Amino acid sequence: MKPRVRFAPSPTGFLHIGGLRSALYDELFARRHGGDFILRIEDTDVARTVQGGIENICQSLKDCGVIPNEGVWIDAKGKIIERGDYGPYIQTKRQAKHRAYAEELVKKNLAYYCFCSPERLAKLREEQTKSGVAPRYAGQCRELSHEQAAERVAKGEKYVIRLKLPSTGKIKFQDIIRGAVEFDWSAMDDQVIIKSSGLPTYHLASTCDDHDMGITHVLRGEEWLPSTPKHLFIYQAFGWKPPEFAHLPLLLNADHSKLSKRQGDVSVAEILAKGYLPEALVNFVALLGWNPTADREIYTHDELAKMFDLAKVNKAGAMVNYEKLDWLNAGYIKALPEDDYLTQAQTQIKTEINDANFLDRCLLLVRDRVVKLPDVAVLTEFFFKDKLDYDKVSLGWKKQAKDEIVLRLKALKDLVQDAKEADVLKVEVMEKKIKKLIESQSWGNGDTLWPLRAALSGAEKSPGPFELLAAYGKERALVRINDALNHLK
Ligand code: GLU
Repeated sequence: MKPRVRFAPSPTGFLHIGGLRSALYDELFARRHGGDFILRIEDTDVARTVQGGIENICQSLKDCGVIPNEGVWIDAKGKIIERGDYGPYIQTKRQAKHRAYAEELVKKNLAYYCFCSPERLAKLREEQTKSGVAPRYAGQCRELSHEQAAERVAKGEKYVIRLKLPSTGKIKFQDIIRGAVEFDWSAMDDQVIIKSSGLPTYHLASTCDDHDMGITHVLRGEEWLPSTPKHLFIYQAFGWKPPEFAHLPLLLNADHSKLSKRQGDVSVAEILAKGYLPEALVNFVALLGWNPTADREIYTHDELAKMFDLAKVNKAGAMVNYEKLDWLNAGYIKALPEDDYLTQAQTQIKTEINDANFLDRCLLLVRDRVVKLPDVAVLTEFFFKDKLDYDKVSLGWKKQAKDEIVLRLKALKDLVQDAKEADVLKVEVMEKKIKKLIESQSWGNGDTLWPLRAALSGAEKSPGPFELLAAYGKERALVRINDALNHLK
């Protein structure tokens, strides 16, 4: 049977790392097994729905190349669309179905109308907490007959509908990641499935939709594991075959606390805006709780899809280590085809200079030190300045005397002046020429190369002097050396 998996986010916020991981695992699983990957929007918590949430979720997935083949999607103009035979895929549009399912459960005596007011429930909870028992709905309305309930509804009393869960015994099931799982019914509240607003809760809507959409595997965060018994109860009540469940490990901060918005759980859109490449982010997120091999960290999206194995996902929480994302991102930037790198790097710099060869040389020179794309601007800034500020850098090596610096820079200026333009662009050629000069004069490397490097960069730290010469080219290098000499006058 062709597997069908769904990512079912609630648009109560933007797409975060954890959501991206669930969606990615869904997509990898579907691709690995030739199945369908569906995007369903669970928007029944209307009060908490944020504006632009659906658009953000779809666009972030699109930007990362995690593309469902069915369900809700965003078109090139940013409009939300739905595609597929099992729609609607936006949960609030399925309200009538949810309502009918709830009534059916009531008819079967597996759910009931509950008229307890929020105030009464709060009081009960308080009493239970005081006497040291886990707060739990005590079930006053469980035994109301259908007629009694109908009468109270007719009188206009407010109600919710609750599942009539077993009050004793255990429920056991298999989770693909966690193995055999067991829960006590006695610890479970009679779950509300229809709220007083008439809207279904997540538990009813998600379960019924999963069934109606032919979902075969449910991959979701570990926080939903304790709710699974209630969902299985619904499947059993209707005589439906439940899907298989896989609860993904929690995401943790470095101090092992749960990843929170305050600590490191940022939206995917924000991460991409900081200059991380989507490929690096996908690689990073894929490894939060799973690694296909022991000896590698870098995988393309296609490789991940070929290797994905849900049963090998870890149970233990996965640490979100952004240093690793930096490392991966730097690696992806280094590995980009040169043209792609240049296209992306060009978007980061602001300069009037339109000598494309010069610009490209500068961008390529700093590439090895770029962690995130905006670093390009910082690392290349000095190249594009009209004048460098030599007050900010020591042009001399250690305590080198001024006339000694001038002596070196003058000789270097003559050397560059005499060199062919094409040779200045070659690191090895200039290195050879300058080393020869140093030897012939019995100078030191430090006292010659430092002034040259500082004159060209105006900074204490920069790429080496030969690389800088090769990036500037003859004319531009001469301007800098002259400027430095003038500064020393
Ligand atoms: N709407 C739920 C959420 O956003 C989905 C949980 C599930 O996948 O069942 O967490």
